[in-house]
Amino acid sequence: MKVVTTVKEVRDYVKQWKKNGETVGFVPTMGYLHEGHGSLITAARNNNDRVVVSIFVNPMQFGPTEDLESYPRDLEKDSKYCESLGADLIFHPEPSEMYHDDFSTYVDMSVLTEELCGLSRPVHFRGVCTVVNKLFNIVQPDRAYFGEKDAQQLAIIKHMVQDLNMDIEVIGCPIVREEDGLAKSSRNTYLSLEERKAALILSQTVELCKKLIADGETDADVVVSKMKENIEKEPLAKIDYVKAVNGLTMQQQKEIKAPMLIAMAVYIGKTRLIDNYILG
Ligand code: AMP
Repeated sequence: MKVVTTVKEVRDYVKQWKKNGETVGFVPTMGYLHEGHGSLITAARNNNDRVVVSIFVNPMQFGPTEDLESYPRDLEKDSKYCESLGADLIFHPEPSEMYHDDFSTYVDMSVLTEELCGLSRPVHFRGVCTVVNKLFNIVQPDRAYFGEKDAQQLAIIKHMVQDLNMDIEVIGCPIVREEDGLAKSSRNTYLSLEERKAALILSQTVELCKKLIADGETDADVVVSKMKENIEKEPLAKIDYVKAVNGLTMQQQKEIKAPMLIAMAVYIGKTRLIDNYILG
């Protein structure tokens, strides 16, 4: 496995592979890898001749008061992990390699980006769409793998690929959780011991949501308000949003009906965590 930092190096590898008729699977990440990322790399490994993982903490998707500087990084550990999962190439560029001084082209999607996380993180999805577009142009993958943990992001990337006629198959992979249910996240490292316990309220509320729906509740407002009530029982939790939306358009939906995304963002102390349930 190679670790490269320039666009040219990635292009040279990919060109050679494509010349040999090999397919390329791609896993974009911000690093500090865990088994959630690992599941995407394994899925890519199982279905492609070559696997590229990008590790890039993308400044463009962080708001001015967000955690760009403190975001955890550990390239050495990440490299070993990727190698153990059979990745062929890590692309780990500096921000200056991705964004030259005169950078001025953005991918700005409407509608899907204006709900859920888009409301509390106004510049986030413009940064995500722009960097993923650039990474797709650099890596030219046949397939790209994204986690359902970031369900809105997954829907947005699928939509972007369709809107912009990109010849890439976007594959969603299920949420990987800790044994006690907490969705794995690089940001979990921010949690104190007490907060780590409190963070279980997210997965417990996902379970409550599943149960309400399995028991026949069809009114999304009822489900959402019961979920909010449950989160409010946890003193360290502060709700950013809990919403039930159409799984494709991200627009609010009254009736529990697939395709549907019931998603939440909750602050545990200063750490903003997300979790969700995808129906259909
Ligand atoms: P990140 O490094 O947080 O930008 O995540 C990179 C990719 O890994 C995204 O497609 C995420 O949705 C995915 N991912 C992160 N955490 C998990 C998880 N717990 N289960 C599945 N996929 C995940």
